[in-house]
Amino acid sequence: MTAPHACAVCGFQDRGFIFVDPHRPAAPVRRFCSMHHLKFWSSTSRRNDGMVDMTKMEKQAIKDARRPFAEALTELGLMEPFFNRSAEDIDRLITAAVTGFKKSMDRQSPLTDDEVPF
Ligand SMILES: [Zn+2]
Repeated sequence: MTAPHACAVCGFQDRGFIFVDPHRPAAPVRRFCSMHHLKFWSSTSRRNDGMVDMTKMEKQAIKDARRPFAEALTELGLMEPFFNRSAEDIDRLITAAVTGFKKSMDRQSPLTDDEVPF
């Protein structure tokens, strides 16, 4: 049993799905939470010469998180102070939570020899 790692796409704990690029033996091993994220990574990486730009996807994911965030605020009776806040303010809160989550997952994911880039 290996120690848990963060999924290279979403930052949630990996579930044993691993991608090793056969065309780039020196590239780090990537780990994923699901076959869906592994397939996304491998197809995007192949199209973009081994690079995956997460920025556009992250921006959309933060935007998509507004609705469940609002639903949680409503369920907890906390919507009123947030109701007239800008989308930028809401995105800042979501980003803070997601960034904290991903940094913690990174800290808890030990590096292994196959991930050292030299
Ligand atoms: Zn994932």
